[in-house]
Amino acid sequence: MSLAHNQVIALQVGYSYKDASDPTAMRANCSCTLIRCRDGTNIIVDTLTAWDGEHLKSLLAAQGLEVNDINVVVCTHAHTDHTGCNYLFQKARLHIVGSCASKRDLYFEHPSALDTHGEVLLEETPGHTLDCVSVIVHNTQLGGTVGICGDLFERREDIDDAKIWKMAGSEDEKRQADERQRMSQLCGHIVPGHGPIFALDAELRSKIENYVKLGD
Ligand SMILES: [Zn+2]
Repeated sequence: MSLAHNQVIALQVGYSYKDASDPTAMRANCSCTLIRCRDGTNIIVDTLTAWDGEHLKSLLAAQGLEVNDINVVVCTHAHTDHTGCNYLFQKARLHIVGSCASKRDLYFEHPSALDTHGEVLLEETPGHTLDCVSVIVHNTQLGGTVGICGDLFERREDIDDAKIWKMAGSEDEKRQADERQRMSQLCGHIVPGHGPIFALDAELRSKIENYVKLGD
């Protein structure tokens, strides 16, 4: 079956908040996203923690998929809440973790397109870590381009309060601010690392742009 659009599906919405019993600790898990490409390629972006294997299998089953149906694994960066279940996807042709692309013990050049139509692209978006990547999905069921950006954006609220993305950790705040602006211009919707998908509008884009120009 070939699809009219690339489908971006939230398998699990990410979260992050201070733990109730230990205020020095955080509770966090990533936004875990499935892309069903028009050409039949199935891509999973960010794979939860290592304790989520059975849970992730059930999330895929709800989409009619098994772990062996996933063709490409992308982790936006190498933190443990984004890479934990990579081991499930033994039939994938490629595992990409940040700037590293491999299958078994074979390491490849970083690919740009992940589908045969050239509509699902891998982009370097440094900041949270220096080798963070995002997946840009054109021609989606939402009517435009979706950026699955990992922790480049923590959640929608970090556009109004930059402390949120900075306190989540940034290896280069200047580059992260620049990449946030670039992605906000390129995409109609963003899937942030730890929150629900959100739409960009002129007001949000100008806030992101003003941050680059003026800072806090
Ligand atoms: Zn994260």
